[in-house]
Amino acid sequence: MKRETPFDDDKLREECGVFGIFGHEDSAAHTVLGLHALQHRGQEAAGVVSYDGERFNAYRSMGLVADTLTSEHVVNSLKGMSAIGHVRYSTTGETILRNVQPLFAEFSSGGFAIAHNGNLTNAWQVRKRLVEGGSIFQSTSDTETIIHLIATSGGASLTDRFISALRQVVGAYSLVALTKDMMFGVRDPLGIRPLVLGKLDDVYCLASETCAFDILGAEYIRDVEPGEIVQITRDGLTSIKPFPRVRPRPCIFEYIYFARPDSVSVGGSVYNVRKNIGKELSREAPVDADLVVPVPDSGTPAAIGYSQESGIPFELGIIRNHYVGRTFIEPADNIRHLGVKLKHNPNRAELKDKRVVLVDDSIVRGTTSIKIVNMVRQAGAKEVHMRIASPPTIHSCFYGVDTPEREKLLAAKMTVEEMARHIGVDSLAYISMDGVYRAVGEARRMAGGPQYCDACFTGDYPVPLVDHEGGDSRAQLSLLAER
Ligand code: SF4
Repeated sequence: MKRETPFDDDKLREECGVFGIFGHEDSAAHTVLGLHALQHRGQEAAGVVSYDGERFNAYRSMGLVADTLTSEHVVNSLKGMSAIGHVRYSTTGETILRNVQPLFAEFSSGGFAIAHNGNLTNAWQVRKRLVEGGSIFQSTSDTETIIHLIATSGGASLTDRFISALRQVVGAYSLVALTKDMMFGVRDPLGIRPLVLGKLDDVYCLASETCAFDILGAEYIRDVEPGEIVQITRDGLTSIKPFPRVRPRPCIFEYIYFARPDSVSVGGSVYNVRKNIGKELSREAPVDADLVVPVPDSGTPAAIGYSQESGIPFELGIIRNHYVGRTFIEPADNIRHLGVKLKHNPNRAELKDKRVVLVDDSIVRGTTSIKIVNMVRQAGAKEVHMRIASPPTIHSCFYGVDTPEREKLLAAKMTVEEMARHIGVDSLAYISMDGVYRAVGEARRMAGGPQYCDACFTGDYPVPLVDHEGGDSRAQLSLLAER
C-alpha cells in the first residue's frame, strides 16, 4: 500500500499500462507514444524493450514517459522492428528501478521480455515453491514469477513453456511479451484486466486501451479475448486458447474510472457509459438544485449525464490545475495544509448562492471529498448535494489496483448518512450496482452470474485470493478451472 501524500486524489489507483508492436521500423517511437497515451494508468515508472535482429535493447526509468523516454538519445538506443513497453504504478513489489518493467530474461531458446498489468493472487505461494527449488529472484515484482515458471516448465517450444507457466498462476493479468521472432498478448481466463489488438498499416500492435492506438493512427481490431493468447510472428497472428472456458468478468471499474473516456472498453465507449451512469444516477437519486458541478476530471462525464437527464444546468464550478504532477509531493511543512487547493480551485462566480449537485466517480477514504465540499461551501454555495457515480467501495481490490486496506475505506465503516455528515454535505447518494449494470447495457445477473468483476463493491471475488486467504494454490487452480 502506498504512502498518502497531500496531493493524492482520494482514488483507487490504476494499475499499469502495456503496449507492444511487432514488425514496424519505428517500433520504439511508436511504443513511447503508446505509453504516453496510457500514462494515466501508471505514473511512477516506464520502460521499453526492443529487439533489433541481433540483440534486445532496454531502457527503464522512474518518472513520466514525457520526462524519461522521449529524448532522441533514448529512442535511438531502442533499435529494432519490435518493441514492448510498460507504464507502472506499483501494486506489488516496491517502487524501485529493478521492479520497473518490461522484465527481461535469457532462456536457452533466446531472450524473453515481458510486461504485465494486473496481479497474481498466488504469486507468493508460487515464488516460495520456486525459491525452495533453487530459483533466485532479481525483483520483488510478481511478474518475475512467470519468468521463473517458464524457465522451470517443460515443453517442446517456448510457447508451450509459456502456456505451462500461465497454467500455474492465478490472478488478473494482461501481458505483452517479446522474443526474437514473436510477440505475445495474453489475457487471464476471466479477462479482468483489459488488452486490445490493433493494426498500424499491416503491423499488429497491442495495448491496454484503444487510446494508445488513436495517438498512432492505428486501427482498433478487437479485444484480446479472456483466456486468449495471441501469438504474432512475421507470418501473422495465431490465436491460442489454452484454458478451460469460464464466464468472463472484466473489471467494471475500468468503465467507472480507470480507462480514459476516449477509449473503447469491452466494445463500448467509456465516455458514453460514464454519461449513462450519470443519467441512471439522476433517475435513482434526484435532487432539487441549481447547478450540476463535476469534481474534475474524472467526475465530468457522469455530471454531464446527470445534467442532461435532470435538466439542471451543468457548470464547471471547480477548476483543476493540470500541472500538479505526482512529483509535487514533498512541499515545505508550512504549505502542506494547502493540499487540495493546489489541484482544485472553486469557480466562485458560478457557485455563490447556488444549490449545487457535486458529482464524483467514487469515494475511497473520503479525505479529498471533505476538502472539496468545504471549498465549495466557502465559495458561497447554499447547499451541497453529493452524487457518486459508483456504488460504495467497501472491499479492497486484489487484482492489480492499489486500494487501501478495507478498514480505511470510508463506506466500509460508515452508513451513507454517517458519511454525509462526515463529509459535510446536505445529502449524499450513490448509484446502485444494478444502475451501473444498466449503464453498461447489461442486466446485473444473467443465468450463471454477473458478467463483470464488481468485487470492490460486492465482495464477490471471481478469482481465488490464494495468497491472501492462505490455502493450496493448486487446489484453487483446479477450482478455477471448474467454474
Ligand atoms: Fe476492478 Fe474492483 Fe474487480 Fe478490482 S475488485 S478488478 S477494481 S471491479
